[in-house]
Amino acid sequence: MCSLFGRGLAHYIYNNALHARRAWSNCKPAKPTPPAATEPHSKIVDVCCEGMVVKIIPARSNNYMYLITDLPTGCTAAIDLSDNKILFEILKKENLKLSFAFITHHHEDHSGGTQELAAACPDVKICAGDERIKSVNHCVKDCEQLKLGEMTMNCMHTPCHTVGHYCYFVECGAGGPPALFTGDTLFQGGCGGFDEGTPDQMYAIVKRFLELPKETRIFGGHENTILNLRFAQCVEPENSSISARLFWAQKQRENKLPTPPSMLCEERTFNPFLRVDHPDVQHYTGDTDPSYVLFCLRKQRDAFK
Ligand SMILES: [Zn+2]
Repeated sequence: MCSLFGRGLAHYIYNNALHARRAWSNCKPAKPTPPAATEPHSKIVDVCCEGMVVKIIPARSNNYMYLITDLPTGCTAAIDLSDNKILFEILKKENLKLSFAFITHHHEDHSGGTQELAAACPDVKICAGDERIKSVNHCVKDCEQLKLGEMTMNCMHTPCHTVGHYCYFVECGAGGPPALFTGDTLFQGGCGGFDEGTPDQMYAIVKRFLELPKETRIFGGHENTILNLRFAQCVEPENSSISARLFWAQKQRENKLPTPPSMLCEERTFNPFLRVDHPDVQHYTGDTDPSYVLFCLRKQRDAFK
């Protein structure tokens, strides 16, 4: 009796398992849900100044690339090629013709699209200053100026994050505020790692940036403002510009809005890397030598999560 029952039960389990397996094999595979990383981290936003439009384009997990268009002539340039698929979609949708691409540095998340762009659009001038970047057909030099319609593109060699890093300072023909595309050299409330450079080099860059017009709009290569400002708060807990900017940045991010651009004169109030001359920043690092202050800030920032 016992064994009969046992056999029956075993048969029951076997049949059910078989049925389940058939049911499984007849199932169409569920439509895979796209991984979260493919969701854009921010909305696409146009920043309009007189005579010039900067389109802020989110890419990858927290990169930004940009399209700048000279309104009188329609001349359009890309800054960094982080994701060509998004770029080509926007160019098509907005009926824009790309004439230039300026690459800030050789890291793949900024320069990854150069070969594909060169193959698809051989007329586009691909400009950069590092031989590690593929398919460059115009090698830029420090202080070189290029005309983009009525805009003037000024190339600034800024070696520190990488040896061949360039920032691009754009003056629009109509006299509106200029724009500075900083790649991984300067971010809102922070700066990039000194991967291939020294604090002295970074200090030379800081001095150069601080000579630019105070209304310059800063467009960095990543969305990392909140973390930068949290670190800035550790450096200067009493600085109300930092807390106000952090509150604003959190609101922006709640609505998936980009935090760039900031103005250079604003950065001067809350970015510790542009405040190496301030007594509170010097107190935090325990030194007054600007390069050493930058070295300490960067070291602490590297450890800050
Ligand atoms: Zn980089």
